[in-house]
Amino acid sequence: MGLLSRLKEIFTGSQQASEKKPEAVADIKRPVTASKPAKKPEDVKVEQKQDGKNKEDKPVVNKITVGHVHMSGCTGCLVSLADNYAGLFKILDDYADLVYCLTLADVRHIPEMDVALVEGSVCLQDECSVREIKETREKAKVVVALGGCAAYGNITRFCRGGQWNQPQQESFVPIGDLIDVDLYLPSCPPGAEAIRNVCVMAYLLLQGNDDQKALAAAYLKPLMDLAKRGTEACGCDLMVDVINQGLCMGCGTCAASCPVRAITIEYGRPNINRDMCIKCGACYAQCPRSFFNFDVMNQFEGITEAIDGAMGKGGQ
Ligand code: SF4
Ligand code: SF4
Repeated sequence: MGLLSRLKEIFTGSQQASEKKPEAVADIKRPVTASKPAKKPEDVKVEQKQDGKNKEDKPVVNKITVGHVHMSGCTGCLVSLADNYAGLFKILDDYADLVYCLTLADVRHIPEMDVALVEGSVCLQDECSVREIKETREKAKVVVALGGCAAYGNITRFCRGGQWNQPQQESFVPIGDLIDVDLYLPSCPPGAEAIRNVCVMAYLLLQGNDDQKALAAAYLKPLMDLAKRGTEACGCDLMVDVINQGLCMGCGTCAASCPVRAITIEYGRPNINRDMCIKCGACYAQCPRSFFNFDVMNQFEGITEAIDGAMGKGGQ
């Protein structure tokens, strides 16, 4: 049975047992404890109507807990998360509780959580930030480097201090230089839909049955592979991993993102001046094909449509 068929089953409720094991789930560094199979929120509501004793009008699903941890970034990733508009409420209603977010939740200390979405790089001269990122690793089952700064440093690699109150803060590193990271979701910022899909897939990975976990693992595998690959990326990596693989679609995003103009678009394809490259990783982080999903390539549109359907009319 194909991934798309299984996804449709998951969101339409007709789940079938599968013999396939979620191999890539083992890649998550913090093993997930056994959990009940996920219920479709609509099913839960039907059960509530039948049970007159349950007066609370809220879905009682096994939601995951998600936190947004803000390191040194521009808040663009958080804005992108909020750009899901009604879809964000759908996520919070049915799939995830937002247990930590300095902007959106009144919680001051990092709690235990299933998924930590970490935005921004870490300033090495800021003891508080270094402590917080390590605490995040200890308290989160899955750590996601959200955006190019968390994954590769991006433009924060250029910080050389200069703030009036903290002129000594001059070394900013991607979070993977200090802790183990499970998933990279690059781009600057990642698209609202991409963040939404990762939240839904994290829900299936952590709360689903074996079949659902296998699907989520396949969907998330390219992001896991990026995390394994490391925190450094340069124009040569873009050449080897994307352009030489025939994956480049000539969008020009890499050239637009390069802060030293080491990339030019010639005859519809990027040309990289290696002598000018300062290895900031911005081009790799922004390229939409650097984390192309070969595993579900033929079914990607269908999977996205299925998730859209699960999110309802307000999920766009
Ligand atoms: S080509 Fe430009 S954007 Fe890419 S790593 Fe080099 S300097 Fe950074
Ligand atoms: S961002 Fe990626 S896909 Fe777009 S032109 Fe550059 S290498 Fe090609």
